Amino acid sequence: MASKLIVVIPCYNEQEVLPETSKRLVVKMASLVQKGLISDDSRVLLVNDGSKDRTWEMITELHEQNPLFDGVKLSRNRGHQNALLAGLMTAKDRCDISISMDADLQDDMDAMDRFIEEYNKGCDIVYGVRNKRDTDTVFKRQTALMFYRLMKGLGVDITYNHADYRLMSNRALRALSEFKEVNLFLRGMAPLVGFQSGTVTYDRSERFAGESKYPFKKMLAFAIDGITSFSVKPLRLITTVGVVIFIISLFMLLYALISWISGKTVIGWTSTLASIWMIGGIQLLSLGIIGEYIGKIYHETKQRPRFIIERYLNEKNDDPVVDHH
Ligand code: UDP
Ligand code: MG
Repeated sequence: MASKLIVVIPCYNEQEVLPETSKRLVVKMASLVQKGLISDDSRVLLVNDGSKDRTWEMITELHEQNPLFDGVKLSRNRGHQNALLAGLMTAKDRCDISISMDADLQDDMDAMDRFIEEYNKGCDIVYGVRNKRDTDTVFKRQTALMFYRLMKGLGVDITYNHADYRLMSNRALRALSEFKEVNLFLRGMAPLVGFQSGTVTYDRSERFAGESKYPFKKMLAFAIDGITSFSVKPLRLITTVGVVIFIISLFMLLYALISWISGKTVIGWTSTLASIWMIGGIQLLSLGIIGEYIGKIYHETKQRPRFIIERYLNEKNDDPVVDHH
């Protein structure tokens, strides 16, 4: 029997792309149903992440015009990862499989066929991996590569060139819901869920319209979050640096004592100044890193809801639910 699919799409100020995205989704979903890959009660779930433009009005209109579209309205902007999780958790008990993707048509919809084929072969998670990045700027490409290398180096299991275009089975979603962390980095959490997984490569195109909602500052914050939520190696690195510097200082002490005993006057202004700056810098950096982790603990202990759903438009029509996760 064909499986029920819910496509989950977080949307933040996407009024420029939604008309085209929804048009293409209607065609795509119909073709998937026709091929017998998904059941005809499959849905597209559009999550409005506190948009300031007409995105929610558009989602409401889409839902009224076509039963294919469901909508979730978050109570405010919570960011891409939280919006995506809100969608996935809403889909969790209502589908056999979910596919998450961006609203801006950068993820090639035609890869969905292969996602579902992989699922039918027994995969619970299928990662969409872009085969080239020539539509990104050189800067974005380079920083992304550096980030993946760093993550790998820090021992985090993460798929190279995989964003959040991903299939997750119902079972994988239920497992994901057991992860209660507040600092979300879904592409790092999916491998932790486990189960059999597969990859599907696709061409990533340019954003269809509108601007990227990930300016450099957000990208950097996202990268730091990814690292500090998944690896404690930076903390260990501080310890290592501390030990090395301590050993060096022992030698320096020895050197100073010998110089003193042998009666050589040490002028040493430059070296003193240099070491003060260096040690000071290392200390501040180390404190900063420790601070990052303490900040994480602070957020986790609060256990604040990761998203709050204000409206949920679905086939039963307009269940106003307040869902705290
Ligand atoms: N997005 C969101 N909340 C935010 C920022 C982004 O839901 O606060 C959504 C956005 O609408 C899009 C997806 O996350 O569907 C990815 O954003 P974008 O395409 O701007 O990122 P990029 O592809 O440039 O990394
Ligand atoms: Mg994009």
